[in-house]
Amino acid sequence: MSKRDYYEVLGVSRTASEQELKSAYRTLALKHHPDRNPGDKAAEEQFKEAAEAYAVLADADKRAMYDRYGHAGVSGAGAPAGGGFDPTIFADFNDIFAGLGDMFGFGDLFGGRRRGGAMRGADLRYDLEIAFKEAAAGVETSIQIPREETCETCRGSGAAPGSAPETCKQCGGRGQVRYQQGFLTIARTCGRCQGSGRVITKPCATCHGAGRTARDRKLTVKIPAGIASGQRLRLYGEGEHGAGGGPPGDLYVVVHVRDHEFFHREGDDLYCEMPVHFPTLALGGTLQIPTLDGEHALEIPAGTASGHRFRVKSKGMPNVGGRGVGDLYVIVRADVPRKLTKDQKRMLEQFAATLGKPPGVRAGSADGDRPFFERVKDIFG
Ligand SMILES: [Zn+2]
Ligand SMILES: [Zn+2]
Repeated sequence: MSKRDYYEVLGVSRTASEQELKSAYRTLALKHHPDRNPGDKAAEEQFKEAAEAYAVLADADKRAMYDRYGHAGVSGAGAPAGGGFDPTIFADFNDIFAGLGDMFGFGDLFGGRRRGGAMRGADLRYDLEIAFKEAAAGVETSIQIPREETCETCRGSGAAPGSAPETCKQCGGRGQVRYQQGFLTIARTCGRCQGSGRVITKPCATCHGAGRTARDRKLTVKIPAGIASGQRLRLYGEGEHGAGGGPPGDLYVVVHVRDHEFFHREGDDLYCEMPVHFPTLALGGTLQIPTLDGEHALEIPAGTASGHRFRVKSKGMPNVGGRGVGDLYVIVRADVPRKLTKDQKRMLEQFAATLGKPPGVRAGSADGDRPFFERVKDIFG
């Protein structure tokens, strides 16, 4: 199933203001909240879909990325790798639900939030395009990634300097509230503190109590020689910072190698086609062929067929794992001139007259003098 457009999900225009987004999300969240639709899977999905859409569009940076690149631009930013949903984004959005009290048990709904609020940061993905030559030689490049980092003002606590989060009065710091339903006692994540057991009364001015801030971080990435399109590098701990003392996520750099105009890659081997004058194939000669590290002289033996493939050892791509170097395969093609001078035409006609029977007829074989196309007819019946 393809992902729906976030604006469509929230039912707002692409130019919707922050307030319009918030109010559209609030309406949807209330309508589809699982507590109001017990056992209704579709409602729960719609609720999560709306939450994810809002998480992205309410963040100016993520919204800009989404507007430019669509879902690909924010995959990893709003959701951790693996398609799960990151409940930590709600750290920023408590205000939306102020006054709704216990109704919202996000921790229970999305799973993953631990008591105390320690959460691993989300993994991030960065798509990097490099030239073919850079893939062959390896390259060191710097990339700029927008990511959530621990707020330096409050060191991630979310509380203004000089203040500290207070024990939640709703749950007494347990992070859970219990209530009696018939003879059952039901425990549910405290909606006031989101299960952390603590409430920030004086939010940090820098991060507005989230404990994290959006930063553009410049990183240097070393791309190993031999990397191929679609391969990814994992930069441990370079994803979004964790919440509540949780470890950071990882950054995945997905490499896209631009095609080469001449070489075609298969595994570690390279392939190329070289147009060659017919006399060179017939008489033999030396051919200068381009390789990744300069020109290479290829010996063409006399009587080489057009389409013949030569193997040039160790002139392919280096193996990304350091296991040697691939080979280069050169396919020679007879180049038939489109225009001939009078002299060339005369000489070719003279030459053709010396050839006798057309190719494909093998004198002395069982098929004798039967033309080539007739033997083909026998084969395909
Ligand atoms: Zn802060
Ligand atoms: Zn609480």
